Amino acid sequence: MRSVLIAFIRRVPLLLPAFLFGLVEEGSAQIQKTTEAPYLIVLGTSQDAGTPQAGSHEHPAWKDPSKRKLATSLGLVDPNTGKTWMFEATPDFRQQWYDLDSAAGNMARDNASPGTTTRRAVPDGIFLTHAHIGHYTGLMFLGQESMGTTGVTVYAMERMADFLALNGPWDQLVRLNNISIRKLRPSVPIRLSDDLRVIPFLVPHRQEYSEVAGYRIEGPSRTALFIPDIDSWDDWDRMGHRIEAILETVAVAYLDGTFFAEGEIPGRDMSSFPHPLITVTMDRLSALSSAQRSKIRFIHLNHTNPASDAESAEAAMIRENGFGVASALEVFGL
Ligand SMILES: [Zn+2]
Ligand SMILES: [Zn+2]
Repeated sequence: MRSVLIAFIRRVPLLLPAFLFGLVEEGSAQIQKTTEAPYLIVLGTSQDAGTPQAGSHEHPAWKDPSKRKLATSLGLVDPNTGKTWMFEATPDFRQQWYDLDSAAGNMARDNASPGTTTRRAVPDGIFLTHAHIGHYTGLMFLGQESMGTTGVTVYAMERMADFLALNGPWDQLVRLNNISIRKLRPSVPIRLSDDLRVIPFLVPHRQEYSEVAGYRIEGPSRTALFIPDIDSWDDWDRMGHRIEAILETVAVAYLDGTFFAEGEIPGRDMSSFPHPLITVTMDRLSALSSAQRSKIRFIHLNHTNPASDAESAEAAMIRENGFGVASALEVFGL
């Protein structure tokens, strides 16, 4: 997988700044129009703990690196300015930041004029959803043991922001100004450029240390939705958000696909698991038009989820139902 990914990412800087792509799957780009449009790149598709997980030594990915998956993250690139943002700071931050900076073409530009750049390779901002291990612990790489950044903007909702500012070791990142926290409020947009903005919203999900956010990412032409973790669509209904209505307002939706179906974890009743099973989401949305269903790219797949193998019967079933599974380094033009 890594070699495939590297081959793909090498092509990204050459192609992407010139074109606005639709979904890129398995290397085939659908070119929609020529513009320097911002774009999203999927930096990881696994549940928090990655695939394979620690201790699950029977998982085939230990012997076959092509089956390994990084924790869920999206990158955002504005080719007009070379600016980059990340959604989530995962335990796989090192690889994901390299992949994002590569995709943005910044390294290629530096190499083209060696010695003339003083650019420091840091993201222009990091948007966090919540305080579970796969979503924020990558911030540790901004600290003095690693990058030692200065003032990287970290966007977080109120409780998440306080959690970082008031608890070690994260408070040191604030004290040493490695990060600069910008508090988000639900539905209040963050403007990243004239034609790029991010709108946070609240979703229901376990909230031990923080509230849980999702994001709308609005570009000049298209909008993406990012909800990696949610307890259930019904709970979100009760908060006044209907996923069906929201889907009509976006072009792509990266949604919680943690578990595929009941029975995935042997010996466990999964009805109390705080995630909508992929089968449950597909059932709920089965009456939507194919155009609406095709916007959905399941993400945040657990290491047990058979659909994370594109060759599996479960992945085929998702495709037959008109939905999709996000793949590493796929690109979506905004
Ligand atoms: Zn998660
Ligand atoms: Zn979570």
